[in-house]
Amino acid sequence: MASRTYRAEAIVLRTVDFGEADRILVLFSRHFGKLHVVAKGIRRATSRMAGHAEPLTHATYQLARGRELDVLTGAETRAVYPSIRDDLMRIAAGWYVAELTDRFTLEHEPSAPLFDLLETALRHLDAGHAPGLVCRWFDLHLLDRAGFRPELYECVSCREALQERQNAWSAAAGGALCASCAAKLSSGLGLTVRALKSLRYLLQSDFAGAAQLRVDGSLASELEHHMRFFVQHVIDREITAARLLDEIRALPPLPSPAAS
Ligand SMILES: [Zn+2]
Repeated sequence: MASRTYRAEAIVLRTVDFGEADRILVLFSRHFGKLHVVAKGIRRATSRMAGHAEPLTHATYQLARGRELDVLTGAETRAVYPSIRDDLMRIAAGWYVAELTDRFTLEHEPSAPLFDLLETALRHLDAGHAPGLVCRWFDLHLLDRAGFRPELYECVSCREALQERQNAWSAAAGGALCASCAAKLSSGLGLTVRALKSLRYLLQSDFAGAAQLRVDGSLASELEHHMRFFVQHVIDREITAARLLDEIRALPPLPSPAAS
């Protein structure tokens, strides 16, 4: 008979409270894929495991097989990403990568490359890299690993190599559209040369390479806009954390201490 308990290295993607003090954790584990597990009594002040049951915690969890859901019996934290938790934009970006990981994975379907991608994104967010850059790098590599790599070299309609000029971006068609097809089909959003080159570069690079890319405000907005349309088209729904990122950006700046 299989052992009743097992250990799983995992990152908490999200949590759902229920009952008086219980919580369901949606874990993405390196070896077992996505798992819904129950943490009983975790919301009591006396719970020893409360610190391991928050979203974006990376830990080794001890789990006992249950009839419906497996039950959390112990945890050893590996990373809590303190700098992410101190900054609204970083926390929203952390939720963004966790939400997309949740959307692109199925229960009990292991994918170590996706686990490593999520872990790398969180580690670099915590290390102080620009949240937009981490999210765009994550978007492209997630799409690639999940089998939805956007076309960045040929026109998705006529299959001609893309020229170095303003082209167009079509999430519905699966990537870049040449200028003449975009005009003919009256479809696609403007795609600048530097945005196209940046998307190619991010897709080819590991994070250390991606971190070398210089991205100003207008390029960051264009990349975010195109990738958001693309990802939302693939998952066929809005990304909740992306709306949160917009709301945080729209907040008035905090008054500076000198002004008071
Ligand atoms: Zn074309």
